Formats: sequence, structure tokens, C-alpha cells
Amino acid sequence: MLKPFLKSCKAFLLDILYPNRCPFCNEIIMWNETVCGSCADKLVPANDKICHKCGGVPCVCSKNNNFDNVYAAMFFDDENVSSAIYDFKCTGMSNLAEYTAETVCKYIDKADLVTGVPMGKRKLRDRGHNQADILAKCIGERLDIQFGKNLLYKIDSDEEQHHLSEEERAERVKDLFHGSDADLNGKTIILCDDVMTTGSTVNRCAGLLKEMGAEKVIVCVSAVTRLDKSQRKG
Ligand SMILES: [Zn+2]
Ligand SMILES: [Zn+2]
Repeated sequence: MLKPFLKSCKAFLLDILYPNRCPFCNEIIMWNETVCGSCADKLVPANDKICHKCGGVPCVCSKNNNFDNVYAAMFFDDENVSSAIYDFKCTGMSNLAEYTAETVCKYIDKADLVTGVPMGKRKLRDRGHNQADILAKCIGERLDIQFGKNLLYKIDSDEEQHHLSEEERAERVKDLFHGSDADLNGKTIILCDDVMTTGSTVNRCAGLLKEMGAEKVIVCVSAVTRLDKSQRKG
């Protein structure tokens, strides 16, 4: 019980130096809030609409997914969301991650480890942070779950994936992501990312975690796209 108390003290004291801000409109908010009232009213809670098995709107459960559940805070095409995600990617400011964590943690009873979709070493050095790991650490703190460091690896690639079809993406991610020799036997792992589009990245990573012994993989993302499968271009 001491840990949450100390975390609150730290957040309160930090707020005096660096006021807490709404991740969507940048207005100053209370130290223990994650979003301002007017942005909260405008956001469509993705968790109320998506299928919690596949993350689809509508459900695309016919796909053979390696993950067991998907929880998402927002829709990527929602007003203000895409720019907030872009800021989160660039700055690594954790307020969007805190909002996401607060939203998705309500759905999770228990897990053993939390980790982020990895970033290539060169890209991580250039950017200085991996936003998926920032989200994973926020979720870990809220649920009191250990952060799983270096469970998965990504090979650096300059190739853009946006123009690839869903099938081409699935093929491509096989080469990009690799597992480690960590033993995850029987464990439930929370896998985090900023945005889930076709799901090919989290599906590949979840498959690797299962190969390493994981019994269950719960995907948590800040935002999902709302396009149905026929509209999905990648
Ligand atoms: Zn706001
Ligand atoms: Zn589904």
C-alpha cells in the first residue's frame, strides 16, 4: 500500500514544478487527473465498441490471432486523438500513456509481466524513448506488475509499412520481430503499443511470446483504427 501512496506524493510534488496537462488540448489539469473534462466528454471510449477478442470494429475474429484479448482507450480517427498520439510518439511525454493506462487497467484482473512492442536499436537511440515501453511502465505501475525488459527484439528497417496490404504486412513482420530466451512458461503477458491498425505487429509479437511459453497475451493500445477489414489497407 506504500507504493501507490509514494507514487501519488511524487506526482503531487512534480506537479508543482511541471504542471500536469491534458494530452489532447494541453490545458493544465489537476495533478491526479489524466484528461480535462471537456476532452473527456468528446472522446469515444473504444473499449465500449471494439471486440475484446480481436480489437475489430466490427469483430474480425475469423482471423487466427495469437493474442487473447485487446483493450484500447481511443479511436485513432477520433478528433484530437491522432495529433495526441503523434505528440506522444515524438516527445515521450507520459500523460497520454497515463490516460490509456487508467482506461484499459479497469479491464485487467491479473497478469504476470507487462512489456512494449520493441523498437529497433538505431531508432530507439535516435528517438531516445519507445512510447510502447512508456505505456507498458504506466500500466505496470497501476497494476503493480513487473516490466518485462528485452523480451522481444526488432530489427531496424527504413521500409515504410503504410503502403503494404494486410497480408504483405504479416509477412514483413515475421522478419522484423524476434523473441529472446526468456522463459515465460504459463505466464500472462500484457503487450502494449501506441496504435493497432491491421494488428499484424501485435499478432506477430504475441505469437513470439507464446513460443516463449506465455499462456495468455493481453494487448493494450492507446488507439485502434475503426476501419472494417474490407477497408483496411494496412
Ligand atoms: Zn483537454
Ligand atoms: Zn472479434
